[in-house]
Amino acid sequence: MKTLNDFNFENKKALIRVDFNVPLNENFEVTDATRILSAKPTLIKVLEDGGSCILMSHLGRPKGVDEAFSLKHIVSKLEEIIGVEVNFVSNCIGEEAEQAAALLQRGQILLLENLRFHDEEKKGDKTFAQALAKLGDIYVNDAFGTAHRAHASTTVVAQYFESNKCFGNLLSKEIESINKVMDTGEKPVLAILGGAKVSSKITIIENILDKIDHLIIGGGMTFTFIKAQGGHIGDSICEDDKMPLALEILKKAASKNVKVHLPIDVLAANAFSNDAETQIVDVNAIPDGWQGLDCGPKSIANFDKIVNTCKTILWNGPLGVFELESFANATIQLGNSISSATKNGAFSLVGGGDSVAAVKQFGFQSKVSYVSTGGGAMLESLEGKTLPGIAAILE
Ligand code: AMP
Repeated sequence: MKTLNDFNFENKKALIRVDFNVPLNENFEVTDATRILSAKPTLIKVLEDGGSCILMSHLGRPKGVDEAFSLKHIVSKLEEIIGVEVNFVSNCIGEEAEQAAALLQRGQILLLENLRFHDEEKKGDKTFAQALAKLGDIYVNDAFGTAHRAHASTTVVAQYFESNKCFGNLLSKEIESINKVMDTGEKPVLAILGGAKVSSKITIIENILDKIDHLIIGGGMTFTFIKAQGGHIGDSICEDDKMPLALEILKKAASKNVKVHLPIDVLAANAFSNDAETQIVDVNAIPDGWQGLDCGPKSIANFDKIVNTCKTILWNGPLGVFELESFANATIQLGNSISSATKNGAFSLVGGGDSVAAVKQFGFQSKVSYVSTGGGAMLESLEGKTLPGIAAILE
């Protein structure tokens, strides 16, 4: 795996695919600069080597050229974070971009306009990718969030650099974290899968059963498993058509010696609302008219025990409806358990969608080993797919 450290960028122009798809407010100011901060180590390495950076990214989902999605809006934030003046060019390909790239001196940064102002980007168009490739000497992919897309700047462009291509710091860290969980993690390995539906997690479960020792299932998908086993789930969310699949998963897990831990009790509510009436009930005996919206205290204690016996932990999906304060407790307690296991030497990776949001919301970000920056890309990695953006660098 070729990383930044395999190259000396002195007098080289690094063409870097970053993910600067940041949120902007109505005054076009960056409201969350996490993604720019995440790219900083890669840019600093190139600049400190005595190279220059040509940055390319998408921003939002523009239909053609649209000022509202211009990357010029992020220039001042980027300058503030990196501490270097940023040159901006209003087209990512063509004469203007080529001239700006040619004039770039060591230690300088050039930001190209939004790649998605050209339809060719998402189509993975070869001519467009070649036009981008012309701009730099070494291609660096540091955008994990789009690594599962075979777009021109994330995948196709790599073929024009032969051996002059590598992963940026952020993408390397993502790959290493996934590998730690999937291949090289210290045992026992635990996966915690929550969220709403079995159907959206089934491929992940099937892929990871060979790699884990314990599986905690929480969140809404609990109830498909409980009902399939004959439990009474009241009005809880359930995918009836996935019940045979749930039983199949339990059978497969048993045959692979994976211990599956489902909630024992739940916090049930008489409505899907923050101020609904609630009661703690056995997960197998939820009264009609009530729905399980969070795990109960016995489940939380049991999960805490398991988490703290494991050395490698993957967390994907909340244990309850954490967006509603009344049903956030199990998700918060799980965050606490993982934080303490991490403090005691476990490796913990939080990845994919809502668990990342929960970890950020409740302040666990610095207490777990790694929080993934790519939702869809992380899910596809956990499903065992080879991401095109990663494959293109390895080829
Ligand atoms: P996912 O995107 O599949 O990870 O699902 C996340 C969503 O699952 C969040 O919006 C949660 O509110 C929801 N969720 C978690 N637990 C439950 C539950 N017991 N009943 C209904 N929805 C839930």
